[in-house]
Amino acid sequence: MLKQDPDSILVWSEKYKLDLVAFGVEKPFAVDRGLMVLQKLAEQKEFEGYKEPRMATEAELATLHTPEYMQILPLADTWKEIFELKSHEYFPERATRPLSHLYDDIRLQTGGTMEAVEIALKKGFSANLGGGFHHAYAEKGTGFCGIQDVGIAIRWAQARGLVKNVMTLDFDFHQGDGTAKVFEGDDTVYTVSVHSEEGWPETKQVSDLDVGVLSAEQDLYLDKCRFALDTALGGFKPDLIVYLAGSDPYEKCALPGSQLIKRPLAEMQKRDEMVIDRCAAEKIPMAMVFAGGYGDHVWEVHYLAVRHMLDKAGLLSRSDKALVTKGK
Ligand SMILES: [Zn+2]
Repeated sequence: MLKQDPDSILVWSEKYKLDLVAFGVEKPFAVDRGLMVLQKLAEQKEFEGYKEPRMATEAELATLHTPEYMQILPLADTWKEIFELKSHEYFPERATRPLSHLYDDIRLQTGGTMEAVEIALKKGFSANLGGGFHHAYAEKGTGFCGIQDVGIAIRWAQARGLVKNVMTLDFDFHQGDGTAKVFEGDDTVYTVSVHSEEGWPETKQVSDLDVGVLSAEQDLYLDKCRFALDTALGGFKPDLIVYLAGSDPYEKCALPGSQLIKRPLAEMQKRDEMVIDRCAAEKIPMAMVFAGGYGDHVWEVHYLAVRHMLDKAGLLSRSDKALVTKGK
């Protein structure tokens, strides 16, 4: 049984699991990455406790999404499209929950990203063990992303005067096209995306800094992430970084579309530690969100990242340390 703790820097809810089977969809979305991370941390006696977020309100969503899109967001058909459900995959008669409930579930994850931003600004680090729906645009959802949680959280924090300048650092396999478009022409938000040049979406948007990675040069993946981080922070001083730590460049990601980049676990770990260490060194508050990652193994990437973040925040109890204390 996982413990809740209102003071935790990890944000999660049991309702994060996108149980598509319950909606009558024959497209199982593997294990919940947040659940796996929390279980592993607890099992290793490294960390316990997560904060349950509140659901983002419709008014909060409407600060970013268009009135027309807000009207169709609660409808089942909208989510059918966002999840690209074909008729042979969707059996409404087998569903135990209506597809429109996905709206509430994703709104909860959006509330989670807002929560993570607020915690990061108070405590330096935070992670929403979900969220990162970077393919959502103001007027439409695409690629499994219906609500632009990162954009909403940033606008919300700005409107409350908590931050002025924000950087979105997106290392997901796929370009953060929705995020780029939403903040196009906005000088207060600097969008960075390192992604597969050949992968979906075919038509890329223009981020403030885009670094494409070709499949043939994927050995340079980590160098390119480092270059992007150095370049971005060289010219822009953010009050907050929202890090979209997608695990789909990992070699064990099961998504057929992300096989163009297949990096080993040790390299994914270096990538995330590089970002976390840089934020710590420059004292930039960082809110991490999961973004993409599919199949039974990608949680390993997120576990190592969250573990390192907890360590940097001084919140990790190491089992080896505990043993030494016990011995004395
Ligand atoms: Zn992705």
